[in-house]
Amino acid sequence: MIDVYDVVVIGAGPVGLYAGFFAAENKFRVAIVDALPDVGGQLIALYPQKFIFDVAGYPQVTATQLVDKLKRQALKHHVSLLLEFKVVTLSLCEDENYRIVSEQGREIRGRYIIIAVGAGLITPRKLELPEADKYLDRGLEYVVKDVEEYRHRRVLIVGGGDTALDWASFMVDVAEGVTLIHRSSRFVGFEGSLRRLQQSACTIYTDTGLTGIFGEGKVERVQITNSKERWTKELEIERILGCIGFTPKLGFIKEIGFEITEGSIRADENMRTNVTSVYAVGDISNHPGRIKLISTGFGNVQIAVNDIIRRGNSPS
Ligand SMILES: Cc1cc2nc3c(=O)[nH]c(=O)nc-3n(C[C@H](O)[C@H](O)[C@H](O)COP(=O)(O)OP(=O)(O)OC[C@H]3O[C@@H](n4cnc5c(N)ncnc54)[C@H](O)[C@@H]3O)c2cc1C
Repeated sequence: MIDVYDVVVIGAGPVGLYAGFFAAENKFRVAIVDALPDVGGQLIALYPQKFIFDVAGYPQVTATQLVDKLKRQALKHHVSLLLEFKVVTLSLCEDENYRIVSEQGREIRGRYIIIAVGAGLITPRKLELPEADKYLDRGLEYVVKDVEEYRHRRVLIVGGGDTALDWASFMVDVAEGVTLIHRSSRFVGFEGSLRRLQQSACTIYTDTGLTGIFGEGKVERVQITNSKERWTKELEIERILGCIGFTPKLGFIKEIGFEITEGSIRADENMRTNVTSVYAVGDISNHPGRIKLISTGFGNVQIAVNDIIRRGNSPS
């Protein structure tokens, strides 16, 4: 038998978890689905140990702690959490329920859909070095799986965005030494993070790329090259963390006729998309004045769920 829900939330990042909670709090029968084996979206995949300072009520909280709380809040009610459920099809049935099908062929149905897929499927960009794959998980990572692996090690971080800056700041207190290289002369991450890092023990090279990885079966040394001053150096490095962004993969979103602007789904003031009974919240939604932050996503959820309630639908 196929399970039918009042509300199906696609994406179990912070915003999707909150959407699941708030819809269930309002007595709707809810399922939250996510492609990944864990909840938490970008917070767990990209910056699990980073401190977050701008979520109301938390002067300071790590991404992992915040996700734990959000998960507990969502599961306070009877919410079906379906992980490793990568949505590949979303289609409207004759009875006005949506049919949601995963890559593995699992199917559920939902009357209302809240899309909270953030930047899409989180697939880290890989270093363009022929030998890089050989060192994957042998000293080279794109996502930190276990911070302890970096403790007392010499670490190289590659990248110039928030992920690179945040990890470099974090590693300064954990690793034996941290070098950050960025191929451009300007960092694109938050300026405050860069300032903090510049005052720390981290060695920073701009206009510098990773041009070689060496070692017997694991990372032992790297070669870095500065394109402006035209120098090349070798460094003794045991861990490389590639933070050169992730490729946004919108997948099924592209196929069902949403109005897409700047890579996100256009939503109106009620977070409704142009597709009947489908809402877009969090980083994936594009609406006037949007800011891609956790708190603004929570606000989107309040608006969307209240709109569903206002449409006069009594929960089943
Ligand atoms: C390095 C960094 C630091 C940041 N720091 C802060 C900060 O300090 N404060 C702050 O407020 N914000 C911060 N942000 C931004 C914040 O992480 C995002 O605004 C937030 O993650 C958006 O949440 P979301 O739930 O909309 O999407 P996401 O966190 O992207 O979660 C989306 C989920 O949808 C799932 N998904 C995607 N496609 C499918 C599919 N087809 N089927 C099933 N599931 C799917 C994904 O697997 C993922 O789990 C930071 C971002 C970065 C990169």
